[in-house]
Amino acid sequence: MRSDEMIQGKLRHMISFDVEEHFQVAAFWSVARRREWDQLASRVERNTRKIADLLLEHSTKATFFVLGWVAERHPDLVKYLAQQGHEIASHGYGHELVHTQTPTQFREDVRRSKQILEDLIGRPVVGYRAPSFSITSQTEWAIPLLIEEGYRYDSSIYNRFRSTQGSTESRAGTYQLETEAGTIWEVSPSTMNTCGFHLPVAGGGYFRLFPYATSKMFLKNLEKQGSQLVMYLHPWELDPEQPRMDGPVLSKVRHYLNIGKTEQRLRWLLKDFSFAPINEAIRPIREIFEGQRECFHAIV
Ligand SMILES: [Zn+2]
Repeated sequence: MRSDEMIQGKLRHMISFDVEEHFQVAAFWSVARRREWDQLASRVERNTRKIADLLLEHSTKATFFVLGWVAERHPDLVKYLAQQGHEIASHGYGHELVHTQTPTQFREDVRRSKQILEDLIGRPVVGYRAPSFSITSQTEWAIPLLIEEGYRYDSSIYNRFRSTQGSTESRAGTYQLETEAGTIWEVSPSTMNTCGFHLPVAGGGYFRLFPYATSKMFLKNLEKQGSQLVMYLHPWELDPEQPRMDGPVLSKVRHYLNIGKTEQRLRWLLKDFSFAPINEAIRPIREIFEGQRECFHAIV
């Protein structure tokens, strides 16, 4: 194990937050609601600042995958997160799932969000995470486009419930993807190999589903195997008072499940594990980021 993956004997894991409004999640997506976005009450700034306060209490830095749409409306929030030492990465512009876009639309979406974020923070944005982890074997065409648009790592491939046997879909953790446009690092949310399947244990609804003691047991097992954890949550998951939305019953169950318990569970998680932003925890990605930062300053 390399020394830079350790802090005081603890393995340095990664924690990330997808910064979006509660009404932008794919489970409740509709054309009508999309038209209403600017009329709905915003809660993202308050919820994200709550996360930033929790991270500060635990002296922890994280990666925030921010939607361009949110960054345009809350520029001070993005600047504040960057000033606090967190990594700013892209969650795309309009929370469009990859398979609902043409390659041209996707390119425009990831280019626009990167530009908005870089203009705000004055630093390169090298990481991308697709809404709802929507890069799959059907949308692999998106990966070379990310490279061409200047992204150097992706965190959109989540092989939850897939077989651990096979090729791309059997992979987990951090690895390189070779494409005709070059190489990119893939940083997949953590899964646990259970009876030949990837059991998702890394965050979101799965973190809310299991009691914390169960999640901790899964995560400690991965840690013992030497895996760097890749965790994720959303600001709306720490907001039990958010307005309830209409939608399919299953979506409502998943979205609101144990939502009043996330904040305390996150506190425990931050106490029990040591986290860093993705662009610090993975040495090759850190080297790419630092190299780009020097070029960025030379150009700006
Ligand atoms: Zn999202």
